[in-house]
Amino acid sequence: MADCLFCRIATRQIPAPLVYEDDRVVAFNDINPQGPTHVLIVPKRHIATLNDLTSEDDGLVGELIRRASAIAAERGISADGYRVLFNTNRAAGQTVFHVHLHLIGGRSLGWPPG
Ligand code: AMP
Ligand code: ZN
Repeated sequence: MADCLFCRIATRQIPAPLVYEDDRVVAFNDINPQGPTHVLIVPKRHIATLNDLTSEDDGLVGELIRRASAIAAERGISADGYRVLFNTNRAAGQTVFHVHLHLIGGRSLGWPPG
């Protein structure tokens, strides 16, 4: 989608240093980090929200989560702990309507979130 920020990052129309890239997924640091590690793991294909997933996306969702776990390991935060989350629609604070998995860690995280 031409007007989607994360489609534009995924297709390199907007330059962003990538933490990871393969055929289906990119990852990059959040521009407004909520912790020492705050990485967004993003499917290259445009999917607006979790509500738009189908069973055909099950493998892709697994890839996003496994990639978050791998990046956490690279950052050395696996043992201490980290959080992964998808904000979905406005009540959860979703601001970019292209599915993205937040990986946040490197500090103690309160629960429940606000
Ligand atoms: P959400 O509120 O779950 O939709 O998360 C969107 C996230 O995208 C926020 O944490 C923003 O800080 C982040 N963000 C917005 N624009 C950019 C950008 N150009 N590069 C990296 N992260 C961004
Ligand atoms: Zn998009």
